Amino acid sequence: MSFYDVLQKYKQNVVFERIQSVSREEVDRVLSKEIFSIDDYLVLISPAASDFLEEMARKAQRITLQHFGRAVVLYAPLYLANYCVNNCLYCGFNVHNDLDRRKLTMEELRVEAKAISEMGIRHILLLTGESRKHSPVEYIRDCVKIIAEYFTSISLEVYPLDEEDYRLLVNSGVDGLTIYQEVYDEDVYKTMHPSGPKKDFRYRLDTPERGCRSGMRSVGIGALMGLGNWRTEAFYTALHAHYLTGKYSEVEISLSIPRMRPHTGSFEVPSPVGDRDFVQIMLAARLFLRHVGITVSTRERASFRDNLVGLGLTRMSAGSVTEVGGYNEKRGDGQFEISDDRSVEEIRQMLYGKGFQPVFKDWQYI
Ligand code: SF4
Repeated sequence: MSFYDVLQKYKQNVVFERIQSVSREEVDRVLSKEIFSIDDYLVLISPAASDFLEEMARKAQRITLQHFGRAVVLYAPLYLANYCVNNCLYCGFNVHNDLDRRKLTMEELRVEAKAISEMGIRHILLLTGESRKHSPVEYIRDCVKIIAEYFTSISLEVYPLDEEDYRLLVNSGVDGLTIYQEVYDEDVYKTMHPSGPKKDFRYRLDTPERGCRSGMRSVGIGALMGLGNWRTEAFYTALHAHYLTGKYSEVEISLSIPRMRPHTGSFEVPSPVGDRDFVQIMLAARLFLRHVGITVSTRERASFRDNLVGLGLTRMSAGSVTEVGGYNEKRGDGQFEISDDRSVEEIRQMLYGKGFQPVFKDWQYI
């Protein structure tokens, strides 16, 4: 059994109608609880619950403090390559977009790694587009060996791999995997991914489980908010995280709520997610998934991210660049636009100012 079987039990139209029909009385009743079920979570992401954000925020704040203290882990992304054979309609690295395609040589990688580590970062997230020809597993493995000289925690956000490939990378020093489903609505998924290997909904959906089985310490999931109806997408994301925490209790499961950002190419966001909507998703997730980390990247504005500290967020990217080689030389062909371009030092000071502790290292591969 995989999460796909669970997904089949929660039909899109049924979930959507149930979310829309939630009453204020139901929200009141759910908010009087301390422990929340998936049905309660559904109530908390309903239109009716959007009038209860303050009450949800008070509970979320307490739960976050209890489980995570005043600590926020900082990390930075490092783009290894932007070759991609996929045709994701919403992405700047889409195979049809005309941009300068490249991948880092091992010498260039060292220069990037050095620049990021000099900012104080110790947790790194390595990214590639999907091209087994240009960025095969062996290339990623060789990059990891160099990266391990500069960082204590290495996570991957690369194309989905088989379990044995993940195991090979874990044995090379990788400890974390981030893989977004992008959209859990299978019909929307097919529209958004018309060609390329990413068309395979089921293979992507099962990827976090392959990562969990391969020995990854942490696995992060999420949906790209804006592609499908955000309330149902938020529901499935939390359902997926809940499933993974139950089945792989030894793995740290986390989730992200990435919103669509402008990028190279033209794509209208089908279902925009407002700031209040984003906050509602995060608060509901914190109430339902007490132990699950929540990552908020530099896709979000500085002031907005600052206001989320203490409300559920446990991990932030800092000093991010989304171009290949962009830490040393900016060219302008990033995967998406950054909204929070503050330095690592500025984010560190912001956290101290709020009484929180920036955490640069909480893991060492031995
Ligand atoms: S989202 Fe990933 S797979 Fe899709 S076009 Fe962009 S880089 Fe390629």
